[in-house]
Amino acid sequence: MEITGRTKLVGILGDPVSHSLSPKMQNTAFEAMGLAMAYVPLLVKAAELKAAVQGIKAMNFRGANVTIPHKTSIAGLMDRLDESAAITGAVNTVVNEEGVLIGYNTDGNGFITALEEVITPGYPDMEVMLLGAGGAARSVGVALAQKGVKAITIVNRNRDRAEELQRILQRYFPTLSTTVFTFDDDFSLPLAESRLVINATPVGMEGNLKAPLLPVDRLTKVHVVCDLVYVKSGKTSLEIVAQEKGATTLGGEGMLLHQGAEAIYLWTGKQPPLDIMRRAIESR
Ligand code: NAP
Repeated sequence: MEITGRTKLVGILGDPVSHSLSPKMQNTAFEAMGLAMAYVPLLVKAAELKAAVQGIKAMNFRGANVTIPHKTSIAGLMDRLDESAAITGAVNTVVNEEGVLIGYNTDGNGFITALEEVITPGYPDMEVMLLGAGGAARSVGVALAQKGVKAITIVNRNRDRAEELQRILQRYFPTLSTTVFTFDDDFSLPLAESRLVINATPVGMEGNLKAPLLPVDRLTKVHVVCDLVYVKSGKTSLEIVAQEKGATTLGGEGMLLHQGAEAIYLWTGKQPPLDIMRRAIESR
């Protein structure tokens, strides 16, 4: 990739960011598309987020992706929110329209597209267990609610944050059944009854390789277990144990691909080459 005076910059704001496959995937796409654009990792501590957002404007970046732990806190720093970000209160993509920062959320669509590559979901009958209540959990929870799932059980370390997500879901989807647990509660029964189980916490990431957060003995072949986390070795510990129990599994790579492709479309107005991006992820 040749960087010139005309190269447009985008980046990913997060802490950590060194694990992220987005720079490789997005730069591969820009190159294949013949675009004079480059994508850089930007390690941003929470206390510096406001300054980093001002930097997007000040340094004339075309935009940014946003990852852990900034997706919800950055929403209040945008000039405008697209509907996808306004409902979830979480932003994963920023577009700089001549000094006006617009926050979008492509995580929910990305997750749904990746899920539908693996299973044909019967959404109206589907009970879902969502581990986590941060930016990614909100996006996935809202996207599944928009698809008309029957029930969502939220399990989170911090009960207040789980209840905040529950309030968002109740407000926009009044007929959806929602329940809240913390990891200290016994949630083995709703786990057994859920078809879709989603880890939307960073547990399992490189550097955070703890045991899965759920009673894995309850997993069976009826479950579809999705880990939003992806790791260099290819399978997270949750995916490995879920496969041993006969469950269908989905790693975070498919969501990464599709949320990233939609972000490129928002920055460029062009559809990126999915196959080439997928190969860039696979060759990590
Ligand atoms: P976030 O907004 O910071 O939320 C993190 C969530 O995880 C919170 O609910 C937090 O609980 C919980 N959590 C953090 N550490 C935990 C621990 N040790 N034990 C139990 N729960 C813990 O982060 P995010 O943006 O939602 O991202 C979450 C994960 O999803 C990250 O690993 C990220 O890389 C991944 N992700 C992947 C994709 C993809 O394309 N594959 C897209 C988005 C996100 P509290 O509320 O109690 O703090």
